[in-house]
Amino acid sequence: MRLEKLRGQLVDEQLDAIMITDPANRRYLSGFMGSAGTLFISADRALLATDFRYYEQVERQAPDFQLVKLTGRLLDVLPDVVTDLDIRRLGFEGDNLTVSLYNDILESLNEGIELVATSNVVEELRMQKDDDELPSLQRAVDITDAAYAHITAFVQPGMTERQIAWEIERFMRDTGAESTSFPIIVAAGPNGAMPHATPSDRPIEPSDPIVIDMGALVDGYHADLTRTFALDAPSDRYLEVYEIVLQAQKAALQNIQAGMTGKEADAIARTIIEQAGYGEQFGHGLGHGVGLVIHERPWLSHLERGDNVLRPGMVFSIEPGIYLPGEFGVRIEDLALLREDGLQTLSRAAKEPALNRQ
Ligand code: ZN
Ligand code: ZN
Repeated sequence: MRLEKLRGQLVDEQLDAIMITDPANRRYLSGFMGSAGTLFISADRALLATDFRYYEQVERQAPDFQLVKLTGRLLDVLPDVVTDLDIRRLGFEGDNLTVSLYNDILESLNEGIELVATSNVVEELRMQKDDDELPSLQRAVDITDAAYAHITAFVQPGMTERQIAWEIERFMRDTGAESTSFPIIVAAGPNGAMPHATPSDRPIEPSDPIVIDMGALVDGYHADLTRTFALDAPSDRYLEVYEIVLQAQKAALQNIQAGMTGKEADAIARTIIEQAGYGEQFGHGLGHGVGLVIHERPWLSHLERGDNVLRPGMVFSIEPGIYLPGEFGVRIEDLALLREDGLQTLSRAAKEPALNRQ
């Protein structure tokens, strides 16, 4: 199915074959999870060139692909592959191939063979998730939700951000995650004003708003969840800012529809934050696609890259935030699946500004 769609693209781009070097695209098209290998896909053939470390793995994970055994460099087999697949125009991934490999390939090819740069051919296919992908994504989300419930019961004043981050990671691994999706962010008090803060040894104060951004990795699929909460005695200013971010997120979750651009979707939340006077403090896009890569297409953004149209089957984050340097930050993030009739939120983690555990 995925290969069929790609072959349709080859026809559109008038390519005899495409060479896939991006690891996520390689896995998406072939099922092969090894860390090295190159795919060659033509109208009727599919080859996977890799070295001896992966021969057995290819047979198990990528049965639809014919193994090309590499004993040296890819360049050594390339002329044979080109002849074998009868290629005159060979596409490659322009966003992935290094200039030096490109030059080497050009030199190794016979005259008359054209090397054609493509952009985002497989990434475009990956935007709309199929039925084999959604269960893995949901499982990653479920483990992440459980980790959030666990950590809100675990956290105590005086613990450090690093301690909390490690406890989340340990919990995710213990409950079935193959790893975390990205280094977990735990940012309390003023650290929360940095959207991508690194957990520190700073002990948490009872009234600190804490931003936790985390995700579990399952079958190669990433989850992405952010919650902000105070343990106790939250300030009025924090509660006010929290409410604005929450309303912005709710409006986006309720009103984003298939057919909108990422820019239009972003504007739903951004307008609310701007009207509350915090437009300058929401410096990033509303969301991003999530799948085999943590940040992938589509983009929900006020910037030019938000021009992509949102379609059913896409899974992306909705994550408005307000960051007040020197004070605190608030971000609330959920993953949602776009359906014909609107968004279905995949995450179910509780959303409360304070834990109020007394
Ligand atoms: Zn996140
Ligand atoms: Zn995110």
